[in-house]
Amino acid sequence: MSFGHLQDFDNSFDGDLQSLNKLISDCQKCSLGKTRKNLVFGSGDPKARIVFVGEAPGKQEDMKGLPFVGRSGKILDENLSLINMTRNDVYICNVLKCKPPKNRNPLSSEVDDCEPYLIKQLYIIKPRLIIALGKIAASTILKTNEPLKNLRNKIFKYAGIDLLVTYHPAALLRNPNLKKEVENDFNLIHQNYLS
Ligand code: URA
Repeated sequence: MSFGHLQDFDNSFDGDLQSLNKLISDCQKCSLGKTRKNLVFGSGDPKARIVFVGEAPGKQEDMKGLPFVGRSGKILDENLSLINMTRNDVYICNVLKCKPPKNRNPLSSEVDDCEPYLIKQLYIIKPRLIIALGKIAASTILKTNEPLKNLRNKIFKYAGIDLLVTYHPAALLRNPNLKKEVENDFNLIHQNYLS
């Protein structure tokens, strides 16, 4: 499946991740620029084979300027260990680079403003695989309202790159029964993209 709207983006960027980060560090395209403590650009290996994309920074991430440093980050670390990886071996970022108030879902206008940054990050990193973490990340970047369970176990294309969908690490905090499902997703990643 491919997504025509991506052709509308100017994905090219004549620089590295650091220079993109610097370029957007004062972004005020949407109102989240006024309330953030830190823009959360992303972290990890700039040449990673896998990029994990979450929804938006939470409180901890906003304070530290780094993605997935709170409780869900711990779960993500555990999931990464299933494929013998740490967060230094992959790249982790979010659809939105700034924290929405009271952890509300991203507005579509915010996604429209911020998504070109994600596309440029992917253009620079050129990973083999993108993992969308959770329903909001998956539905905002794939522009679909399908329930998450219908999006798992399928290979999509985003910005020309394979994309898989799995549960958000926070979902495992609420429902530990999902752990088995996520293990299956990570095994699939290992078999198809790492071995
Ligand atoms: N949840 C997300 O989707 N992203 C983060 O960075 C932290 C929590």
